[in-house]
Amino acid sequence: MRNKAIKRKFGRGGRKCERCGSMKGVIRKYRLFYCRRCFREIAREIGFKKYR
Ligand SMILES: [Zn+2]
Repeated sequence: MRNKAIKRKFGRGGRKCERCGSMKGVIRKYRLFYCRRCFREIAREIGFKKYR
């Protein structure tokens, strides 16, 4: 039994919010990488309607 690739390089996983750098609750919908907080804000700017 071996664990597969524990090392994390840039790429999958470890997404950061591109706005504030937070790794908490990063949303990667629509090719955007923002945390929930920032997403909500930018969502307004780019005209999202779904996210309330
Ligand atoms: Zn953020």
